Amino acid sequence: MKKTYSKDELSAALKNYFGFSGFKGLQEPVIMNVLSGRDSFVIMPTGGGKSLCYQLPALISEGTAIVVSPLIALMKNQVDFLRSLSETEGVAHVLNSSLTKSEIKQVRTDVREGVTKLLYVAPESLTKEENVEFLNRVTLSFVAIDEAHCISEWGHDFRPEYRNLRKIFERLGGKIPIIGLTATATPKVQEDILKNLGIQQATTFKASFNRPNLYYEIRPKTKSVDADITRFVKNNEGKSGIIYCLSRKRVEELAQTLQVNGIRAIPYHAGLDPKTRVKNQDMFLMEDADVVVATIAFGMGIDKPDVRFVIHNDMPKSIESYYQETGRAGRDGGEGHCLAFYSYKDIEKLEKFMSGKPVAEQEIGLALLQDVVAFAETSVSRRKFILHYFGEAFDNATGEGGDMDDNMRHPKKKQEAQKQLLALLQIIDQTNQKYKAKEIVHVLLGKVNALIKSHKTDSQPFFGSGADHPEEFWMALIRQALVAGHLIKDIETYGVLKMSQLGAEFLKSPSSFMMTEDHSYKDANDDVLVPSASQGGAAADQTLFKLLKAQRKTIADQLNLPPFVIFQDPSLEDMALKYPITTEELSNVHGVGEGKAKKYGASFIKLIEDYVTEHQIMRPDDFVVKSTGTNSALKLFIIQSVDRKLPLDDIAQAKGLDMDDFIREMEAIVYSGTKLNIDYWLEDVLDEDSQDDLYDYFIEAENDLVDEAMEAFDGDFDEEEVRLYRIKFISDVAN
Ligand code: ADP
Ligand code: MG
Repeated sequence: MKKTYSKDELSAALKNYFGFSGFKGLQEPVIMNVLSGRDSFVIMPTGGGKSLCYQLPALISEGTAIVVSPLIALMKNQVDFLRSLSETEGVAHVLNSSLTKSEIKQVRTDVREGVTKLLYVAPESLTKEENVEFLNRVTLSFVAIDEAHCISEWGHDFRPEYRNLRKIFERLGGKIPIIGLTATATPKVQEDILKNLGIQQATTFKASFNRPNLYYEIRPKTKSVDADITRFVKNNEGKSGIIYCLSRKRVEELAQTLQVNGIRAIPYHAGLDPKTRVKNQDMFLMEDADVVVATIAFGMGIDKPDVRFVIHNDMPKSIESYYQETGRAGRDGGEGHCLAFYSYKDIEKLEKFMSGKPVAEQEIGLALLQDVVAFAETSVSRRKFILHYFGEAFDNATGEGGDMDDNMRHPKKKQEAQKQLLALLQIIDQTNQKYKAKEIVHVLLGKVNALIKSHKTDSQPFFGSGADHPEEFWMALIRQALVAGHLIKDIETYGVLKMSQLGAEFLKSPSSFMMTEDHSYKDANDDVLVPSASQGGAAADQTLFKLLKAQRKTIADQLNLPPFVIFQDPSLEDMALKYPITTEELSNVHGVGEGKAKKYGASFIKLIEDYVTEHQIMRPDDFVVKSTGTNSALKLFIIQSVDRKLPLDDIAQAKGLDMDDFIREMEAIVYSGTKLNIDYWLEDVLDEDSQDDLYDYFIEAENDLVDEAMEAFDGDFDEEEVRLYRIKFISDVAN
């Protein structure tokens, strides 16, 4: 590039082409650097104005700039935009495989004649021999690689085709200046980009990643996540928001749930036909819809400045994705609430999905997930954590936005757990590192199962030595030890806990280990029947909850039944939250179906009605979360199939459920008051005596917990057997 430009000339060009009165952030020095012919590497958060860093120099330079970008839609948008700035259509073109022969001819003519200033290409088109040959013969100004993190396996959006770029550039006439741009890059990814593009000498321009107006919050994901999200959105009625889910199915479900609750929500995912997708995206942009429920397919290049909240129904696969997705909130500098729902079970699911992939890829994926767990469970400033992850120091006492997260506003307690960690590591060591987390916890609590029996671990002196702490405590400790690096989850033996170097050192000379006191991160799908004293309980009306429990006891005594067959604790909690006063409202309560509402509901409704009147309570009508019935088709299928006495494993298979999920569906059915006669199946699983024993147990039991039942029988029955029998029991006795 021959010509040099003064600052005034650049400002004039900025005004002239783009109509902007000043440069944003680092744009000016970046553009100077590009024009001087040096390589540049630009890291700026989304919305920072990266495009202009290559658009402006391309427009004023001699020759054509090649712009590599991963998404055709994004390229098209930019080309349209550039054409709107210029008098000639030919100023910008896309070169890809969808062009006709005559279109290709036009592109080539425009490039050869120097009319085209920016030529957008997808990496796979750039590597085509005919294109390389053509580009070799024309005048090029420089090459821009947008979304440059796609080149790194450690990035959140790896694209193998990006790996071939360097070879192509080398063939394009020697020393062509390169500018790489990305919105997210951990130090590791940065290194990859520089190396793989061959631009180690590039001048790096890095803007701060701090987004001081964003508020970060992570909540435990429980069964009530639908209600939690609905409530949040209702409280932010009329504001624009994005809700990210990992699966298309979940997107559809959640969008429906929000819709039936009167929220203007629309779904968006790659499975929708293109027309609907464009329509839904436009509805969101035009504010005909407030909320878009979407997979990550949504948002690349979305530039809606006033998105007020981004909710993650599931944690993303990496911190970078999280940053990128939350970054779509508050682009205008206004309010931006980033709320994510975290459950460790979701992480395990993601790990499972990876298990089919090549080992190297798995290793990367697991490491990235481990950081997500660390982030979710951390007790330090979330902003500090994120910025540190991107290689940026942050002092939350003085830094902008230092108090803008849940941990800073509501600090978590910590406790010394040196003794407990030592006990945990000793057991892992003494059992020869062959158990997964759940099994180790079993050993600590003194619970047997077939595997533990087969290894005779139950006759070891340490068996049950951790029974003074609950299961949640030990699970949390294991996760925190994984994050801190004392333990490693083995990939090959999927999930078996191994001791790390650090763990071995700790065993030899134990030091302080501060554990975040937080047992609430239980998984969302855990046994539906476990009464949760946690979560929902906190919000529930405790006085009413106690009254409802007393009422349940009265009824149970009258009918000579255990209380749990009437209503489960979570159902009572939900009643104490929603104050249902009709049978219909009651059947919307968690775990209560129509049958049960009719059968046992009357006295509860009466009680609630009296309570509401007496205490002059405003019922949160708008909070009543209606269910969509999305699941009812599945439930109906199960009920009909069981009626036809089909083998249970066939029914599960027909619906693509594993046995665990299938049993959970059946439990939900019988617990909400519908009969399910699985005698035909049980006969083959449990003999008559066993069934009698189980009956005697449950009819006397204080509660219906599977673990306690298994313990009472000292391992005679496995979990599946107990759960299946319990289905029969509830079905026979309660319904
Ligand atoms: P990025 O690629 O970094 O996410 P974009 O290039 O899409 O960001 O730019 C984000 C927004 O900022 C766009 O709407 C763009 O028009 C605007 N913008 C870029 N540079 C300037 C500037 N100098 N002055 C005002 N607005 C700008
Ligand atoms: Mg961009």
